[in-house]
Amino acid sequence: MEKIKMTTPLVEMDGDEMTRVLWKMIKEELLLPYIDLKTEYYDLGLENRNATDDQVTVDSANATLKYGVAVKCATITPNGARMKEYSLKEMWKSPNGTIRAILDGTVFRAPILVKGIVPYVKNWTKPITIARHAYGDVYKNTEIRVSGPGKAELVYTAEDGTEVRELIHNFDGAGILQGIHNTEKSIRSFARACFSYAVDTRQDLWFSTKDTISKKYDHTFKDIFQEIYDTEYREKFEKLGIEYFYTLIDDAVARVIRSEGGFIWACKNYDGDVMSDMVATAYGDLSMMTSVLVSPEGVYEYEAAHGTVQRHYYKYLKGEETSTNSIATIFAWTGALNKRGELDGIPELSAFAKKLEKACIRTVEEGKMTKSLSLISTCEHPVILNSLDFIRAIRQTLDTLINS
Ligand code: NAP
Ligand code: MG
Repeated sequence: MEKIKMTTPLVEMDGDEMTRVLWKMIKEELLLPYIDLKTEYYDLGLENRNATDDQVTVDSANATLKYGVAVKCATITPNGARMKEYSLKEMWKSPNGTIRAILDGTVFRAPILVKGIVPYVKNWTKPITIARHAYGDVYKNTEIRVSGPGKAELVYTAEDGTEVRELIHNFDGAGILQGIHNTEKSIRSFARACFSYAVDTRQDLWFSTKDTISKKYDHTFKDIFQEIYDTEYREKFEKLGIEYFYTLIDDAVARVIRSEGGFIWACKNYDGDVMSDMVATAYGDLSMMTSVLVSPEGVYEYEAAHGTVQRHYYKYLKGEETSTNSIATIFAWTGALNKRGELDGIPELSAFAKKLEKACIRTVEEGKMTKSLSLISTCEHPVILNSLDFIRAIRQTLDTLINS
């Protein structure tokens, strides 16, 4: 078979630990034999981030803005232990945080559904995609531990010096305080990313906040979404027969559980953080969750939702066998290749990506899987494979699909 040609390079962001090991296997077994792979390579492994004073992360994000599509391997976010382990010059920031700040994006997470891995919520027959606003709120907060009696106020000073003051609380003893913010600009980008993604994937969009309690803060999110829907997206939605639906988060939670899935649930930063873990777990397994960062300009960065699988990596280093699930990382590649195919008008590239996804799903449905999947699969006699053999089993299925 002749290899599929690409015209524009994908931005390839390599990463750390076990996922870095899988990355190489995926390329060698599942991509390079079929595609004349064109990538601009950035090594975001912690050693190279340290060596470049994290410039490589910034460069990779800028390259993503230039080319439009990136695929990213999981990376270590340094903490105290990693400082020692890698003799770091500094506790470098989370690469995902840096990339998100440069692309100003919204993160969409969706589970990969496979027969035999039954969601804990039995009526969820279609995927639920969580769209998490990735700016502000409690993640960029200011906190004070109040030591004793006193008055706390919220003060805004405009550039011309005028002040707005609101009493927060008259403390009669010790307590705690928290200041959070968001910007209209970021909320608007979030809304546009959600509406565009809904149009792109032809799914309904749900949005929920606590606007009944938070009459200015959360209500602003609700109002901005409604305004952008009415002025920019209503017609597109109606044409596609999809729906935009706002409801209070309490109501959303109840409806999500009763639903059959198949929609996007847009959440504020904290809600999205918590709900995406709930949804991922309820669908069965974190290693079956994909993630894509979409910027308001339509730039895409694909990755797996899980981390670098450190525990498996230490086993691998000791020469022990590992059974790490590569599916979410493979889907990061297929998401990116499919998008590149769409943007560059290379249908065979998109078709290959779809086939590779199908091969992953079929391999598991035929009973060949990694250990963590076998623990939750209803398959009676699963064949448990190690990391490399699982990838090779997917390759076999892929070849069957290609030759059929
Ligand atoms: P993790 O890598 O997601 O792994 C946590 C546990 O989940 C693993 O020990 C494993 O459980 C299971 N697991 C996750 N992915 C799996 C897979 N593909 N196949 C099989 N099992 C899988 O989280 P972590 O260990 O807390 O974090 C490790 C590093 O990843 C940290 O340095 C963190 O900063 C980084 N991280 C990066 C990203 C990112 O780049 N997007 C996201 C999260 C975390 P068992 O050990 O029980 O088998
Ligand atoms: Mg979380």
